[in-house]
Order: sequence, then C-alpha cells, then structure tokens
Amino acid sequence: MTEKLQPETLAATALGWIDPETDAMASPLHPSTSFLRDPTDLDRTGRMFTRDDNPTFAQPEALINALEGGAGCLLFASGMAAITSVFQRLQPGDHVILPKLVYSGLRDWINTHGLRWGLEVTYVDGCTAACIDAAIKQDKTKVVWLETPSNPTWTITDIAEVSAIAHAAGALVAIDNTVATPILTRPIEHGADIILHSCSKYMNGHGDLIAGAVVIAKGHEDLLSDIQNIRNEYGGVLGSFEAWLLLRGMRTLAVRVKTASTSALKIARFLDQNDLVQQVLYPGLETHPGHVIAAKQMVGGFGGMLSFRVKGGERAAKLFASKVKVFRQAISFGSTESVIEHRAGMEKPDSSTPRDMLRVSVGLEHMDDLIADLQHAINVVQQDSAKGQNNAR
Ligand code: PLP
Repeated sequence: MTEKLQPETLAATALGWIDPETDAMASPLHPSTSFLRDPTDLDRTGRMFTRDDNPTFAQPEALINALEGGAGCLLFASGMAAITSVFQRLQPGDHVILPKLVYSGLRDWINTHGLRWGLEVTYVDGCTAACIDAAIKQDKTKVVWLETPSNPTWTITDIAEVSAIAHAAGALVAIDNTVATPILTRPIEHGADIILHSCSKYMNGHGDLIAGAVVIAKGHEDLLSDIQNIRNEYGGVLGSFEAWLLLRGMRTLAVRVKTASTSALKIARFLDQNDLVQQVLYPGLETHPGHVIAAKQMVGGFGGMLSFRVKGGERAAKLFASKVKVFRQAISFGSTESVIEHRAGMEKPDSSTPRDMLRVSVGLEHMDDLIADLQHAINVVQQDSAKGQNNAR
C-alpha cells in the first residue's frame, strides 16, 4: 500500500503505523539496550543488543526507505558515520571518484583516513558526466560519489547519465541526497545505488539532533548487511531518543522543504537583482549552469540552499554576514530558521570555496522579514564601501 502513496502522505502519516499493543498513533520509544533471549530459541525476536538494532529504528528507517524507494535503510549516529560506512567497506587500492567541491567534512575524511587506508581518489572539477567518464577506471573504480545540488556552489549533476557511465565500468553510484531530500529528488529512480543523508539537516529539520542514514537500492541487498556490520563494529549507532525525534521531525518534511524552496527562489531572485551581489548560485535561476538538468531531475522545487558572492571580496562578505539579524550566522542548514555562513572560513585552507561567498539556508520565516534583513545588510556593506572609496580619495 505505501508504495502507491505520495511522499507527502508517507511522511505526514509516518507510514500510517499504529502500535499493535496500545493503538497509539505516535510510535513508542525503546531505550532498552538489551533484549530478552528466548532460552529455547535465541533468535526468536531477532534482537539482542541495541548496537545491532533497536525497535525504535524500525519506523524511521522504513519511512526513509519508502521515501527514497530503496530495498532497505540503516540509521547512523551522524551523517558522517553513514557516509564513511560506504568507504569503510572498500579494499585498499580501490578507486573512488568525488567532486572537488564536495561536503568539506567528507573531503577531510578522505584525505586523512581514506588515503591512509589505501583508497585511490580522483577529485573531479565540474561534476559532469564527461568529467566522470574521463576519470573512471574500468573495474577499478568502485564508487562514484555525488551530491546534487552540491555543497556549497549547488552544482547539478545528471544522475542518470553518470549512473550509466559508472555501471558500465562496474562502479556503484552513491548520492548524498541531504540537500535535495527525497521530496525533490529520488536518485534511485535515476539509477543511483546508494543514498546517503545527514538527517541532522532537512530530514529532522529542527536543528536539535545529529543523525545519518544509508539507503540501498533494490538489487544491492548484500550491501545492506555489509553496512549493518560496519555500523555495529565501528559503533556509529544512533540513540533511540534521536531516532524517535527524527521520526517526529520527518512528519513535516514535505511542507518544510517546499516552503524553503519557494522562499529560496524568491531570495535568489532578490539577490540576483542587487548591485552588491556579483553572482547568485541557485539551481532554480535560469542563469544557473545546471538549471535545465535540475528542472528535469528535481520535482516541486530547487531546494532551500543558495550561495552568493559579494562584490568587495571576503571583507565585504564577512561584514554582510555579521549585519543580518533574522538570519543567524551559524553553521549547518535545513532547520526552521534561516542561516548565513562565510563558508570558506569554516573549511580547511585547501578548500576552493570562493572567499567572497556566503552560503544561505532559507528557513520558514516570513519572506518580508527575510528580505528586509538582507536589505539592511546590503545597505550597511554599501555604506561601508562608499566610506572606503571616499577615504581613498
Ligand atoms: N552531507 C552533507 C551534504 C552535509 O552538509 C553534512 C554536514 O554538514 C554532512 C553530510 C555530514 O552530516 P553530519 O553533520 O550529520 O555528520
């Protein structure tokens, strides 16, 4: 039945599950770490210890899996724990491809731990099918990693085209779908094999927990047990309270993502018309290089994330970020409140993120308040720049 329901319905009803014992409509929370073993049949319940599994995981895992259209989902203690499990199952010498501008935490992990483990890594510049085709090594490349839209420039990749290239070479396609969420993009339908989420962002949506998830496409069920073993053995297990809270947050996923997308497009258009702004990076703008693919691949919006480059360089960008009041100057994204961040300042010195760029996560506030806040910051930066020009004369 759930296969036929729309994502909005799946999320709002949390799969329509009712507790068989109590008829409760909200799911119970099971903090227990151990489960009684039947002396005559030790595997009767299938559960033993929460590091393997906990009943509170079942419903959020089933919901994420249904939203993504996968064969199974596993929750993790964080997005990073989920992401790294995909690389931890590889062998030394295996080749992986990632975009140069990938989530910086993953780039740092690969450069520190992945290389030490013996992974062979190619970072590609633009994440187009042609770039992947040039970098792929027949039967040696095991994973092609993508984010689309990709953090922090919101580059778009055609998942179907890349999947065809990767599959022909014997590689799996893993997509970090944190930014688009399955409300806007369902990468498995376009050919992807593994989906990753930082559930700390839109999935939970309230900025009050850290969690991650891996979803495996049908036909790759063997990967599920590998990744479950990694979760158990490395111990990146989500707390049951966080799993419960995550399910509660996901009930409003669709409405939050759509509202943020609508507002982000309006903000992108507003910034795009302003003299202080050198460039707006948002796949919903017709001028964005990935707009045509995004319009084909994303359904119902282009997401709540955008970046913009400020004339006047790093100093002007930092001044801008310090002058907003409704937007909060903070890291992370996908919560109810809008956030602005000088992204390069948060990344390691090898980052190629432009230093005049601000990253914005659009929340659920009223549009008039957001625009007025941005206009105020624009005015301050413009006055500052005019003062600088007068002093130079
Ligand atoms: N993926 C993306 C796109 C992210 O932006 C982040 C964190 O910012 C992560 C993964 C890591 O997730 P977490 O912070 O939950 O470990």
